[in-house]
Amino acid sequence: MFIDSHCHLNFKCFNDDIMAILAQLKEKKINKLIIPSTHAKEWASIQHMAQTHDVIYYALGVHTQFLHSYKESDLKYLQTLLEKKPKKCVALGEIGLDKGVSFSAEEQEILFIKQLQLAEKFQLPIILHCVKKQGRVLEILKACHFSQGGVYHGFSASVEVGNEFIKLGFKLGIGGVITHPNAIKVRASIAHLPLTSLLLETDAPDMHLHQQSQKNNTPLNVIPIFECLNNLRNEEKSCISTQLYKNTLAIFPLIGD
Ligand SMILES: [Zn+2]
Repeated sequence: MFIDSHCHLNFKCFNDDIMAILAQLKEKKINKLIIPSTHAKEWASIQHMAQTHDVIYYALGVHTQFLHSYKESDLKYLQTLLEKKPKKCVALGEIGLDKGVSFSAEEQEILFIKQLQLAEKFQLPIILHCVKKQGRVLEILKACHFSQGGVYHGFSASVEVGNEFIKLGFKLGIGGVITHPNAIKVRASIAHLPLTSLLLETDAPDMHLHQQSQKNNTPLNVIPIFECLNNLRNEEKSCISTQLYKNTLAIFPLIGD
């Protein structure tokens, strides 16, 4: 069994083929997926999707790349939703810092810290988006005494950075980047990081795989990502798939089994 711990199946580009994708998930033994949200306008529709489809779980949060549509009242709304302990909401996310966006570091950090505080309050792990800001994110997690852990999604850093996050209770989301033969450093670090700290994710429709034939990445690609990870590791294939599944349940206990 496999879990795609990060995909945006709610995006418009999937409107026409979502039912076909969901049908194929079963055939591929992908029995759960987590949709992180990016901004407040998505929350109601993602909740509705999770109510409609057994396999779908979700996270609520404001992505730093969507600061343009953020209003302060969104966090009150988020708090109200979390107070209802919504079934199938397994994390807060995706949230974090990104060096590549046009919003100031200060604006991003204020929103990130406020959401960390909400995650702590509601005892939810986070789905972390972190681009070229690892040092600062680590400082903030430590300064906030954040204790709920989470997933560093789309991990593509060194073993040393990975271990710093693992020490703080994080696991590392492994996606399509490892399928690219020129991603030599990432592939080397994924080969050496502890298997107990890795999860699978596609980040569909983004993060294209090497030689991907479909226009959009889809949650079905969790299988070729797994095959690639298997080639990079020394452990038995069945041991890897079992451990990845366990890791996902360990970090998102609300998924159940
Ligand atoms: Zn994402």
